This record gives sequence, C-alpha cells and structure tokens, in this order.
Amino acid sequence: MSEPQSTLTDRFGRRITYVRMSVTDRCDFRCVYCMDEKMTFVPREQLLTLEEMARLGKAFVQLGVHKIRLTGGEPLTRRNVMQLFNDLGHLDGLNDFTLTTNGSQLPKYAQQLKDAGVTRINISLDTLDAQRFADLTRIGKIEQTLDGIDAAIAAGFDRIKLNAVILKNRNHDEIIPLVDFARDKGIDISFIEEMPLGVISDHDRAEVYYSSDDILRDIREKYDLQAIGATTGGPSKYYQSADSDTRVGFISPHSHNFCDDCNRVRVTAEGRLLLCLGQEHSVDLRRVLRANPLDDAPLLAALQDAMQIKPKGHEFDLNAKPILFRHMSATGG
Ligand code: SAM
Ligand code: SF4
Repeated sequence: MSEPQSTLTDRFGRRITYVRMSVTDRCDFRCVYCMDEKMTFVPREQLLTLEEMARLGKAFVQLGVHKIRLTGGEPLTRRNVMQLFNDLGHLDGLNDFTLTTNGSQLPKYAQQLKDAGVTRINISLDTLDAQRFADLTRIGKIEQTLDGIDAAIAAGFDRIKLNAVILKNRNHDEIIPLVDFARDKGIDISFIEEMPLGVISDHDRAEVYYSSDDILRDIREKYDLQAIGATTGGPSKYYQSADSDTRVGFISPHSHNFCDDCNRVRVTAEGRLLLCLGQEHSVDLRRVLRANPLDDAPLLAALQDAMQIKPKGHEFDLNAKPILFRHMSATGG
C-alpha cells in the first residue's frame, strides 16, 4: 500500500487515520442511556445520501484514513444501506472496515456484510435477561440481538466484539455473565462507561455511574485478567486471561481519558464533521459536498483545514450540563 500524498494531521501532531460515520440517526431500539423515549429525528432530506457518504469515505481514504466504522443510530435500518458497504468495502488503502450495530438486522445482513468486505463487527448487548433487555432498549427483543450474534459468528468475521454499557443497579450484576457469554461464543467484549451525550429523562447519569475500575475488580473475582498491549485503533484498553482467547476491553471516557493519542473524527448522518466526541467543534461537509458535486478538491481541502480546529481533548463531567445538541445516536457512537 503506497502512502497517500497528503494526510490529516492536527495541531498537536496527531494523525487522523480513523473515521466513524453515522449512516442514520434513526434506530429500531430506544436505549435508555442513548435516546429519550420521544425523539425528534433529522428530516430525511437533510441526511447525506448514500452516494454522498461513499464519496466522503473515499476522500478520507485518499487522505490516509485506513479505518472506517459505520455506525448510527442503527446503520442497518437505513434503506439500501448495502450499497454503501459495497462502495466502501474494497477500497485500496482501507484495511479495517467495521460496523457497530445493535444486531437486530444481522440475521438478514451478516453474510452480505462479510462479502462486502466488512472485517469486524461490534454488537451491543447490555444484558442477557429478556425483560431487562426490553426495559433497557424500550422496544427491542433480546432474540433479535442473540440471533444476530449467531449470524455474525456463522458469517466468519475476523473479530466480533460485544459492547456493554454498564449502569449501577440496572445491569452491573451481569458483568460476569456477559463475560461468560462472550467466552462461550469465542468473541470479545468491551465495557463502556456511560457518557453525558444528549438530555435523557430515564435516569440521573451521575447516580448510575459504574467505573471501568469497578468492572475490572468485579471480573477479577472470577477471572485472572491481565492487561495486554493489543489495540484495535480505538479507545479500548484490553485485558485477557490465559485460559481464553476472549479479550475484555474497557472504554473509559471518565476514568481514563483517551485524548492524547486520539486518531479519529466522526461524521454525523447530516454530514457534519465532529472533531471531538466531547466538544462541539464541527464543520458542515454537506455544504461542501453539494456545492462541488463534480470536484473533490474543495472537499479534500475542507477536511485538511478542519484539522486546525480539532481540540486537544475533552473532560466529561456527569454533574455538568451534557452536550446538549446531540445524543449518542446522532453523534455516531
Ligand atoms: N445502534 C448501534 C448500537 O447500538 O451498537 C450503533 C450506534 S450506538 C450509538 C453505538 C454504541 O454507543 C453502542 O454500543 C451504545 O451502547 C453506545 N452508547 C450509546 N449511548 C451511549 C452513552 N450515552 N454513553 C456511552 N455509550 C453509549
Ligand atoms: Fe439505537 Fe444503538 Fe442508541 Fe440503542 S445505543 S438506541 S441501539 S443507536
């Protein structure tokens, strides 16, 4: 693979090689930490088209991005979404093409995604209990996600990882069962601290905070987890025990800030480039895409210019006001 002529490097010398693109802000679940019960979604005409998303993804790869994650909302609920996976999947220079999903549509799509070039999949699963699953997702059914996990395993991705958001007194008693489940299935699992993105009415985020250190302590009551140096180019820190291939990751935006080696940016489904998960610095790429339908030079220049406003980092404070204007589903989690 030859080095690109120009790359994306910010003021702090961090090279941006990883882009998370939100395919839609809509979802077939309403998880209590992610969305409010009644959500207003972006009108469809304001979303980037799938063609515009593919064009943007290709521009990023031209600038040295070698990992793209498609996320949402629930990416697999967008109509004709396979078109986007097929357009991006086999790009020269893109060596990691990944998806974050709630799993509900994987029975239908897992094999097509594998064929399109998706290398790895993250599937969200916070509980193994059917009633709790219904409570936490408000409208989801656990069988959908469990069937989706099995479909992904059958399709044979390089790696599959579960993502679990742990909330005190809601599902913290399931940490070990979730690790057991991942080990039984031969897949990885990451635990995520809840982040204050968007206003939610279900709970007080400070009250349910359960830190990565607490989770690690709980798991060590059963398994001898040791830190390993492995990275998948994201914010997870990984651990493993000698008796299993399953890696246990921790995404700890509160307790272990991961900004110093940040290598990523996000794009919302409306085409807004977000330079930091926890700050509001952004650039309207939809305007650039639509003003220059046949010429990519202004788009490439806009991406490079945007690096000048990437902030040094973020601090989340559960007692301060949240990032108001976007929920995780709109941010592209
Ligand atoms: N719908 C897909 C899913 O659930 O995997 C993809 C989008 S979802 C926003 C991506 C990830 O963000 C999920 O693992 C979800 O659990 C996590 N998430 C959502 N809201 C969050 C929050 N406020 N804090 C931490 N993680 C959150
Ligand atoms: Fe939907 Fe994923 Fe948010 Fe749950 S976490 S509401 S599945 S976007």
